[in-house]
Amino acid sequence: MASLSSSAISNHSLSPNAFVPKKICFFSNQCRSLLLPHRSPICRMGFVSELERKKTSKTNIFASVTDTSVGTSPEKVQLPKGDSWSVHKFGGTCVGSSERINNVAKIILSDESERKFVVVSAMSKVTDMMYDLILKAQSRDKTYLAALDAVLVKHRSTAVDLLDGNELGNFLSALNQDISNLKAMLRAIYIAGHATESFTDFVVGHGELWSAQLLAAVVRKNGVDCKWMDTREVLIVNPTGSDQVDPDFEKSEKRLEKWYSRNPSKTIIATGFIASTPQDIPTTLKRDGSDFSAAIMGALFKAGQVTIWTDVDGVYSADPRKVSEAVILKTLSYQEAWEMSYFGANVLHPRTIIPVMRYDIPIIIRNVFNLSAPGTKICRSSATEDEVDQSLESFVRGFATIDNLALVNVEGTGMAGVPGTASAIFSAVKDVGANVIMISQASSEHSVCFAVPEKEVKAVSKALQSRFREALNAGRLSQVQVIPNCSILAAVGQRMASTPGVSATLFNALAKANINVRAIAQGCSEYNITVVLKREDCIRALRAVHSRFYLSRTTIAMGIVGPGLIGATLLDQLRDQAATLKEEFNIDLRVMGITGSRTMLLSETGVDLSRWRELQQEKGERADMEKFVQHVHGNHFIPNTVLVDCTADSVIASHYYGWLRKGIHVVTPNKKANSGPLDQYLKLRALQRQSYTHYFYEATVGAGLPIINTLQGLLETGDKILRIEGIFSGTLSYIFNNLVGSRTFSEVVAEAKQAGFTEPDPRDDLSGTDVCRKVIILARESGLKLELSDIPVESLVPEPLKDSASAEEFMQKLPQFDNDLAKKRQIAEDAGEVLRYVGVVDVVNQKGVVKLQAYKNDHPFAQLSGADNIIAFTTTRYKDQPLIVRGPGAGAEVTAGGVFSDILRLASYLGAPS
Ligand code: ADP
Ligand code: ASP
Ligand code: MG
Repeated sequence: MASLSSSAISNHSLSPNAFVPKKICFFSNQCRSLLLPHRSPICRMGFVSELERKKTSKTNIFASVTDTSVGTSPEKVQLPKGDSWSVHKFGGTCVGSSERINNVAKIILSDESERKFVVVSAMSKVTDMMYDLILKAQSRDKTYLAALDAVLVKHRSTAVDLLDGNELGNFLSALNQDISNLKAMLRAIYIAGHATESFTDFVVGHGELWSAQLLAAVVRKNGVDCKWMDTREVLIVNPTGSDQVDPDFEKSEKRLEKWYSRNPSKTIIATGFIASTPQDIPTTLKRDGSDFSAAIMGALFKAGQVTIWTDVDGVYSADPRKVSEAVILKTLSYQEAWEMSYFGANVLHPRTIIPVMRYDIPIIIRNVFNLSAPGTKICRSSATEDEVDQSLESFVRGFATIDNLALVNVEGTGMAGVPGTASAIFSAVKDVGANVIMISQASSEHSVCFAVPEKEVKAVSKALQSRFREALNAGRLSQVQVIPNCSILAAVGQRMASTPGVSATLFNALAKANINVRAIAQGCSEYNITVVLKREDCIRALRAVHSRFYLSRTTIAMGIVGPGLIGATLLDQLRDQAATLKEEFNIDLRVMGITGSRTMLLSETGVDLSRWRELQQEKGERADMEKFVQHVHGNHFIPNTVLVDCTADSVIASHYYGWLRKGIHVVTPNKKANSGPLDQYLKLRALQRQSYTHYFYEATVGAGLPIINTLQGLLETGDKILRIEGIFSGTLSYIFNNLVGSRTFSEVVAEAKQAGFTEPDPRDDLSGTDVCRKVIILARESGLKLELSDIPVESLVPEPLKDSASAEEFMQKLPQFDNDLAKKRQIAEDAGEVLRYVGVVDVVNQKGVVKLQAYKNDHPFAQLSGADNIIAFTTTRYKDQPLIVRGPGAGAEVTAGGVFSDILRLASYLGAPS
């Protein structure tokens, strides 16, 4: 095993083999042009243009370290740089267990790059455990010993799982050595009751030391020669205060060359996170700093690319834990990635970008658990710049949030026109070491407000009060106000620059979600728009703006009322068709709730329709219509809501008016609203006409047949309806189509009941009320102002059987009345006619009727079969030959199909492509 962690740092400069580079020169294996000034160490720190990069990208550059300090014959060991190096960084979750470490080793081995440099984080949770040791020790909590033991056990058992023989022995003895050193150190901290920053950094960095050594040993076990690097020997950084460090690239490069000359290898496994100060004191790149380590190393090697392996498929348009709708961004520009990470997307450490950007080294974010996902590529320009896509949505690439902030507002008329006020404010803030995350100043100069982390605001406020005491006393400043519990929401996108309308859309989405904005900032770069909100509004705001820019405009939140036969069939049809609609037509239908009369199922993002029945059983709650509607409509992230009433209930129908008033669209096969009291119907239709809220009810007549639509089409294009006549009942259609030869009426009714064509009590069909409701719907649609009671209905239920106690009794007695109908049939037959049960809307005479009617044998109504409906429209245009619509007009499949088609009509009204 290579030199070991805790002792390595302090000893390496004293080591007899240590090199002291005296002379560094650069040459390439191909040409001397690489000695041009732009490759000098100083220029290397600066910006390299795309062209320059292209010139050098496929060339390996060699820096040679000539060691003149040891022996007499100078030895040259070359560090190859350039595209031959591929840098990988594996985050804590990637190496969270022995199985995962094996998996990472496999990924490294399968990378076919010539040279590989792998940066690794501590096993997941280990850094937290290490910080906890310090906390415990300095607060004189003796359990630090048990906690240290847990750290030891975790690594020991992982090593035992992964390694054997010498590798295991070496690792365990090094681990034990480190643990006993740590014990001594923690004891000192315990006694002192205090840990200095460098003590802390030294302790917490051990997670990376162990994970790097473990991984290197596993790679070696797989037969690949590899070295591990303690990056404290190489990476030199200067602390900058405010919990940040600046890499010293020049010194680090020299150290790297020196390290490499001693450890030349094509596969190097290095510690992330840790580094040294120029005085060789161990330090860290601060929390989550391993990404930054990888970027710095990538820049030092001028690597071909840096792959950051983590536990998500790439950079999402928003934190996937907060926005389930977030999508993976295929590409991001350096600036966009920087802004996203700065404003809280912790998939990438914000400082990762700068080192690689200098050399145009692309960063790829990939999922270690899903190798089939291509990940997100971060490079100079995001792909959308080349795309023709000019939609507003494409200008905003992602959203991020920072929580736990406070807003500080310094206000007063005395600030206007007084030079130096801002400088005085921010120097006071700097003096307490607070980190200002965003600043906004009203143009009247009456107020400056800025956001700082909540934990720093007390000190900031105190410093400002004291700095401006005089101005406050004199009234030149009215207040230094602290607004706690704030969050920042940032919208990021390179092409937001000079694109009008982006912020309007953003603020509109916030307003629609009823979210109050406390402060706004948009930098001159226009790469982001930042708003400060109340913390409790933050996730809702994030979802609202994300959906506005990312969801299809025709995303519709649906509430299904009545999952009976038709409702259930509709849900199954939606399940089968949803993916196609989304992919091909950009229509995203989300069932946010399903309610029956007793239970309801609510979902935050959309019910999984493949399991809605089970979910209803498992997660159903007591039905409550108000809560249901509030849930479906109140989600704030889906712009459109529709309630689909699949019941036959007049109480549900009585809600439509209120729903439409709230802007909720209504689709239904329920006839109750349109055939109920005339004044309510007229009110409903008037409201529908005034608003952009839609009410569709095609399936109330003839199930999925285009009857209402046809009628509306005729009327809207100026045709005049004279008469509508039709067989509107599938059941009665079946009965009369089959009442032939010697068969009796009761026999055919029994057959229809048996086949499930009738209601459980066939009197509901034979009474004609259902047909009457359809007649009234068509009559009103044609402009007639009729009530249900205005329509005479010829009932087929014999008068004496109206009050029969049960369906069974009715069926039993029905044969006694067969003669009545047989007589009528005989008369019709003698005249070459058949009997049909029809509904008629006589528009000319403003009347309607439901009756038994005889038709000539060659009449279209006489030709019907099965349970088909047929409807004839006689109009001014279709006078000699009526317009006829015919087909199956009953049954769950076709009725649900009719409802579904109305939902799609709604989507097209809302802007879906045709
Ligand atoms: P690692 O330990 O691999 O460095 P991190 O936890 O630091 O992983 O970062 C990955 C996490 O970042 C993801 O699991 C995800 O929850 C979170 N995250 C926050 N915002 C985003 C975003 N916009 N895209 C992807 N992941 C994000
Ligand atoms: N292990 C360190 C941390 O948890 C660094 C990193 O994982 O990026 O902060
Ligand atoms: Mg991270």
